[in-house]
Amino acid sequence: MEIPVVVAVDGPAGSGKSSVSKAVAKRLSYGFLDTGAAYRALAWHVEASAVDTDDADSVVSCLPSFDYRIGTDPAGYRVHVGDTDVTEAIRDPEISAVVSRVARVPEVRTHLIELFRSIMAAERRPGIVVEGRDITTVVAPDAPVRILLTASEEVRMARRAAELAGSSVAVVGEAMRKRDAADSKVVEFMTAAEGVTTVDSSDLDFEQTVDAVIAVVEARRDSETSPGA
Ligand code: C5P
Repeated sequence: MEIPVVVAVDGPAGSGKSSVSKAVAKRLSYGFLDTGAAYRALAWHVEASAVDTDDADSVVSCLPSFDYRIGTDPAGYRVHVGDTDVTEAIRDPEISAVVSRVARVPEVRTHLIELFRSIMAAERRPGIVVEGRDITTVVAPDAPVRILLTASEEVRMARRAAELAGSSVAVVGEAMRKRDAADSKVVEFMTAAEGVTTVDSSDLDFEQTVDAVIAVVEARRDSETSPGA
């Protein structure tokens, strides 16, 4: 079986990494893996098990019963924990508020990183776009294409508020800033690691951002096929 080409995309909340990565995957006929969904689903599972998300040992005790499944079709994927479809439930602001506590537990990260690598290896399409906070640095540091998608804090806050209809920029911005601050204690996703290309979408619209990411993928492909590469 051919090994799928991995396009690794990191970035902070509101950088557009999820929607942009999905659109890039569609255009390239690649699979798409949303890694944040696994951390969110675990936070949902921990809460559903009536366990305190603040207590690392209790969170770890939920890992053996965490029966997680996610599709990689960029046109539509569902997220399941056991028999429950949690696709919508994991987007709840209540889950966003607690997910960083679960994600900071080292055993959780080791467990989920293994899971991501097995999903990536099993991909049947010619490639897979994988997005999250630590994909270029920890999950797939050897990926042929590694991108950090950023945008100014102001732009990211406005985008998140527009996504959550009816929410004020101030409230959403505060929640986003809190989550980024908690997450950045665990993984570095605000500055590009060596060999990672930064795409700053502050002054780009959605389509322009997708084009910019695809240009990075194509430049990489060209450099691999050009003589002497
Ligand atoms: O990307 P998304 O906002 O869905 O991620 C939810 C949370 O999952 C992040 O705030 C972070 O705590 C955690 N996460 C992570 N590493 C990843 C993806 C997500 O720690 N690769």
